[in-house]
Amino acid sequence: MTIPPPNTARPIAPRPILGSQASTTEIVTYLDGICQTLSELAPQVDQSGKWPEQSMQLCGDSGVFRWFLPQSYGGWEWTDFQILLGYLSLSQSCLTTSFILTQWHAAARRILSSKNSQLLEQVGPKLADGSCFVTVGISQLSTSRQHTEPALRSYPTADGYRLEGFAPWVTAAAHADLLILGATLEDGQQILAAVPTSTKGVVCKPGMPLVALSASCTDRVELQGVEINEDQILAGPIENVLLASASKGGGVGGLHTSILAIGHAMRAAAYLRVESQQRSSLRPVADKLSADVEVLRMKIERLTMGHEVITVSELRRRANSLVLRVTQAALQAAKGAGYVEGHPTGRWAREALFFLVWSCPQAVVEANLCDLAGIESPH
Ligand SMILES: Cc1cc2nc3c(=O)[nH]c(=O)nc-3n(C[C@H](O)[C@H](O)[C@H](O)COP(=O)(O)OP(=O)(O)OC[C@H]3O[C@@H](n4cnc5c(N)ncnc54)[C@H](O)[C@@H]3O)c2cc1C
Repeated sequence: MTIPPPNTARPIAPRPILGSQASTTEIVTYLDGICQTLSELAPQVDQSGKWPEQSMQLCGDSGVFRWFLPQSYGGWEWTDFQILLGYLSLSQSCLTTSFILTQWHAAARRILSSKNSQLLEQVGPKLADGSCFVTVGISQLSTSRQHTEPALRSYPTADGYRLEGFAPWVTAAAHADLLILGATLEDGQQILAAVPTSTKGVVCKPGMPLVALSASCTDRVELQGVEINEDQILAGPIENVLLASASKGGGVGGLHTSILAIGHAMRAAAYLRVESQQRSSLRPVADKLSADVEVLRMKIERLTMGHEVITVSELRRRANSLVLRVTQAALQAAKGAGYVEGHPTGRWAREALFFLVWSCPQAVVEANLCDLAGIESPH
């Protein structure tokens, strides 16, 4: 498989090397530099709904993609703790950019943890320097369309497989060079495959208008008679390919959604604390919500470092509830001004709704629905 040249110009600026041996202070200083600009760009990213070229360019130029890659491919090989720090900072600055990054990261993890060393050798350095943008279309195997027929089918051919159907949700598809797609065979087994967006028969839709995060350019990818070779297979055919091919260890991989929810809640809690300095009535609320955010931040930190202080599912349930409560409290503190388009609290409250639907396990959905209905959860 040949990875095509990137579909947009992405000049790579010189950058400092900030490997995993860097101190937390050095990393925090580095992150502050990136996040200040991302925060400034965030309102425009939200209002335009257009692909955040500048923010993504900044990430590439600042070496953000290198956090996740081994040194052998030019990566900085950050530890899970350092990546957690990175995501918490980015998500306080621009949720859209950090969300896009999680989808890139999910795709990169699938490539890194696969046994397809040929593909890894080819793509690894390009992932690190930002010249190959990858994303995932795998929800049809897990959270999306579980009550209906598989959306994306694969049929064995002499050289590999033919893909037919669509991936209903693919963030940044129209801006990606390579897609990691999950497809189902007729016998129910599944494969994960790396498919260049330039492949004949692949149509990446440009992005749907969403309640928030429209600039993530999330849309369906249609596949008609798409031929792929064995050397494009990352995993499978096997049942539950996502479980079977998951990378070892907890790490931040399975925690993306909760990390971003907590980062987003941290931003809104900081706003409440600032407001409460002039309004004493807000102080107990700001203090309590800030304390709740800090408790979850510490739990996710310990979980990331391998301490089982909370289950991933319970963390997600609490992170979801928290981010909705804190952002709505911030909006209410801002009063009518917060409801006017362009006010950050209105944006944060809209963006927080995303956590209700993003990769939300059924148990978390049910617990949340029972909460809303004021009834006991059966689980
Ligand atoms: C902004 C955004 C970006 C995303 N980006 C990605 C990405 O990059 N990659 C990726 O892999 N995934 C992505 N996802 C997918 C996400 O992780 C979830 O899989 C998705 O939100 C699940 O929603 P769905 O509408 O597909 O669910 P579905 O289960 O398909 O529900 C769709 C509709 O089907 C009906 N329905 C649901 N359940 C039942 C039932 N049991 N019986 C009868 N009818 C039913 C309901 O009317 C429902 O509205 C993204 C989602 C969003 C919103």
